[in-house]
Amino acid sequence: MRPGANCDFRIIVDDRPGLPPNAYQTLDKSGRPIIGFTPALFEAMRNRDELAFALSHEAAHHIEGHIPQVQNSATAGVIFGTILGRLAGLDAGGVEAAQNIGGTIGARRFSKNFELEADSLGARIALRAGYDPLVGVQYFQRASDPGDQFLGTHPPNADRIRVVQQTVARSR
Ligand SMILES: [Zn+2]
Repeated sequence: MRPGANCDFRIIVDDRPGLPPNAYQTLDKSGRPIIGFTPALFEAMRNRDELAFALSHEAAHHIEGHIPQVQNSATAGVIFGTILGRLAGLDAGGVEAAQNIGGTIGARRFSKNFELEADSLGARIALRAGYDPLVGVQYFQRASDPGDQFLGTHPPNADRIRVVQQTVARSR
């Protein structure tokens, strides 16, 4: 979909203490895409299909170019990331990574449609990789409603499940 784009994903486990179940996508200084998972997310997931769907969803954010599209509205998130990094006692590189994470979180306050796009493309990626996105998306049936969560601006779970079902129906 994006010839020439850097899709050499670096996958990290973000084990700063106290983080809620979450996955995110960000970029390092060179533009290399990073996908992060918190340990709490692994504990909340029940099978390989759920993990594959979370991974493909985050990869889809990068492939769709969502971060560059929303970067201008992310200033508040960058400030948040700086504070987060200092609280966590990270070195300069770590603070920079936290700034990127903060920017992503800030940006996503405005991007429910981006989440649904990433669910749709993520479902296609997981399907092609041999996983079942219809099983994978079941994670959202169990997850508490987005209003209660750290990333409280995600779309309603029912919308996400419907988008995946429609995508799979078109792809099979
Ligand atoms: Zn997302």
